[in-house]
Amino acid sequence: MGMPLLLVSLIFMSAAAAAADHTMTSGLGMSPEQQAVVFEQAELGFVVDPAAKSLNGDAVLTFRAKSPLSRFALEFDPRYAISAFDVDGVALAAKDRPNNEGRIEFALPKAVATGATFKVHVSYNGKPLVAKRAPWDGGIVWATAPTGEPWVATAVEGEGCDLLWPCIDHPMGKPQRVIQHVTVPAGLTAASNGRLLGVDKNDKTWTWNWSARQPDTYAIALNIGPYELLHNDYRSRYGNVMPMDFYYLRGNRAKAEGLYAELPTMLDFFEEAIGPYPWSDDKVGVVETPHLGMEHQTINAYGNDYKKDINGYDWLMQHEFAHEWFGNQMTNADFDDFWLHEGFAMYMQPLYLEWLRGRMYYDAEMLRQRGLIAGKHPMVAGHSRPNGTPESDAIDPGTDVYYKGAWILHTLRHQIGDRAFRETMRLLVYGRLDPKPGNFKPRYATTRDYVDAVNKVTGRDWNWFFDVYLRSAVMPRLDVQRSVGKLKLRWITDGDRPFPLPVEVRVGERKLRLAMTGGHGEVAIAAGQSYTIDPDNLVLRDAPEITAWKADAATRAKAAADKNKGKQ
Ligand SMILES: [Zn+2]
Repeated sequence: MGMPLLLVSLIFMSAAAAAADHTMTSGLGMSPEQQAVVFEQAELGFVVDPAAKSLNGDAVLTFRAKSPLSRFALEFDPRYAISAFDVDGVALAAKDRPNNEGRIEFALPKAVATGATFKVHVSYNGKPLVAKRAPWDGGIVWATAPTGEPWVATAVEGEGCDLLWPCIDHPMGKPQRVIQHVTVPAGLTAASNGRLLGVDKNDKTWTWNWSARQPDTYAIALNIGPYELLHNDYRSRYGNVMPMDFYYLRGNRAKAEGLYAELPTMLDFFEEAIGPYPWSDDKVGVVETPHLGMEHQTINAYGNDYKKDINGYDWLMQHEFAHEWFGNQMTNADFDDFWLHEGFAMYMQPLYLEWLRGRMYYDAEMLRQRGLIAGKHPMVAGHSRPNGTPESDAIDPGTDVYYKGAWILHTLRHQIGDRAFRETMRLLVYGRLDPKPGNFKPRYATTRDYVDAVNKVTGRDWNWFFDVYLRSAVMPRLDVQRSVGKLKLRWITDGDRPFPLPVEVRVGERKLRLAMTGGHGEVAIAAGQSYTIDPDNLVLRDAPEITAWKADAATRAKAAADKNKGKQ
């Protein structure tokens, strides 16, 4: 109810196809029962033992039924041993809650009426999956801080929340509130999502209690270490004040202070470019982690080692921060819409550079990103695409969701103008053009929603634009023919899709804009006059010189690798 039709059909399609393993995938499809509840609260106890590399968990999950329910399902990694499983206090025997490929399906002891709530309680213990290559391959990282203490972090974006706690492993499975009690060896800090409620200190262990409003399912992360805290209040351009906390490793204070000083500038950029920081009632949070980074809501993982680069800002922290808007406030309804997270988050780096340092920095970053576009698979398949299934892997657009996504937005922005572009972002992120602290809620969105926002803001139909850029792997090519007195331009697209994208041309000392109606354009050119197509590089299109460079680089890399092999 209230859900767009397309979305409902996507979910049912994916549910029908969901016979695969739930553990190493995410977003496989919610069961009909999971779709029939409001996930009101998850209260999660984690007792983390770094010496034994083990986890004891205790989850109390509260659901409210939107229609009468007699069964329910949760995703949970079968590597954990379950010591207790009860629903509203009634214990279920192991045979009544089998774990089938990572999904536990069970009959409720008593039917639940519409509007009634029920609580599922699960106690469990075991060794969480160790990440092979965090944050890209998810799981837990057991590391040691430079000062010798345990340093632990998790990242589960691709595999999902079920690696850590029994959950609804789907982007739309967010609990409205998550309370965490993270117990760690005394002396260590467990930095987590939302507000710190307090710390219970015993002789051997400390328990850190946190409460967060509607975090992303994969945002629930363990971050444990010998942390120290930089804390201040940030006064937003919207007039509200929020805590700004940075948990850094003991010994890194000077470097941490430098990075912390960048935060207010980044926040001000995002609030001007998009709108209010979505979690001012929780906090602005960053924590130093032994993996590169992840957009964990209000406790962004930072592992870029305070590296400096020519741009003079920390791109990793800025990128993860962008996800507070694109990913956490606005969450993709299905991983097929993942470019809405990464394309926008990636485009925020050049936009920030333009805002901070000027156009040259923007252009340089856009050129760098242009060189990284692969163009192997379309960005959007048009059907549910869970993370990690063989079917999804076979058509995975890979890092194109980042770089091609950013270039599509770069192209769009220069077609519709800065003001309209900002309005499209506001509709996508907040569902309204006048967001203010307190007048919006976290929302789910699809690619369709964004195209609709662009059409609405501009009063024009941009379906053809997104059709070519998102649904075709091949980039549009601009064919240019010079004949006596004339320069003729023609868009060539995969499958002959219509593509009337205007393009600028420099002819002699003049710069003209060709409307390219019907995909064609023509401009007069005198003998001896030179020209440049798209002189400011505002349009994403096939670039043979970049393709040739990439092929050459690949050949050289392979030759170097073969030579190395020969030496061994
Ligand atoms: Zn990202």
